[in-house]
Amino acid sequence: MARGRCAEVPTALFFPADGGGVAAAAKICSDCGVRRQCLEYALTNRISYGVWGGASERERSRLLRERARTRPGSRRDARRRVGGPAV
Ligand code: SF4
Repeated sequence: MARGRCAEVPTALFFPADGGGVAAAAKICSDCGVRRQCLEYALTNRISYGVWGGASERERSRLLRERARTRPGSRRDARRRVGGPAV
């Protein structure tokens, strides 16, 4: 994002090959003024590569699964509302 802190550093830093690289990118994101919007953009557009909004591919995938499980109207949500097991 043009207003993000990543505009000040090489883009490759946000497409790391290991966990150490993810941590370095996430540190830059941590005080970025558009972090929340950046993460939402990546989630909405199902971007599967790189660090966006401080979250790795794996973290975004986890967030999407969590949202799907807790989205109103989902099977898990219906079970939770009637007191059944959340499978
Ligand atoms: S949150 Fe990170 S990737 Fe997103 S705009 Fe900010 S610095 Fe760039």
